[in-house]
Amino acid sequence: MGLISNKIHRGNLQPGDHIYSFRKWKSYSHHGIFVESDKVIHYTKTRKEEPANKLRRRPACKKCGFDRKVHRGVVISCLDCFLSGYELYRFDYEVPYHHFLFKRSGTCSTGSCDDPAAVISRATALLNSQDGFGDYNLLENNCECFAIYCKTGKHMSEQACSAKLTIRAVAQAILDQNSGRLLEDVRVHDPDNYMNLKEKIDKLIPLPLNEIIAILGKLNENEEDVEELETMEK
Ligand SMILES: [Zn+2]
Repeated sequence: MGLISNKIHRGNLQPGDHIYSFRKWKSYSHHGIFVESDKVIHYTKTRKEEPANKLRRRPACKKCGFDRKVHRGVVISCLDCFLSGYELYRFDYEVPYHHFLFKRSGTCSTGSCDDPAAVISRATALLNSQDGFGDYNLLENNCECFAIYCKTGKHMSEQACSAKLTIRAVAQAILDQNSGRLLEDVRVHDPDNYMNLKEKIDKLIPLPLNEIIAILGKLNENEEDVEELETMEK
């Protein structure tokens, strides 16, 4: 188990493993439970959000029959369909606190997990149930919440959900970096306003993001940016 990477070769997978594929450029990972040779149970968007033309380009898998157009919610597919061309990683449980702090969010938990038979039985029960895992929600009920539930029998709280943490951390990092750039920009182009803006920003930084966005939104007229950030925060 490396400190930085949980990358794993598919030959080393064990039934009941919580695995994920990491999409670096999207900063998004897809999670699932490896159940047996080349089969993964995972949780996908319950509603159609991709444009129809994008979906039409992907036919059903010849190997496992998985069809993104039809199969939604809790699904079973081959490993290749699950990975979608991205690299394979294994989610770690029972990691020490100091280890957790240095890992990217959504790669490990300090919690213990149940034995593989219990994990597979939970995943299979959800796959076969009418309601599956309920309505998909990127920030509150997503593929990672599903896999963690299968492993531990516990539902993640909203705060522990890594999608929300990742988005918040990225937004905060952008904000920290860009507030400096914004101040320098204003200092050069609009020096009369510089001190006023600097005072405002110094007060803003400790506030929650949605409040910062609302306040900055009122400072200028760029509504589109504000809407986009508000969507991220939600
Ligand atoms: Zn497949």
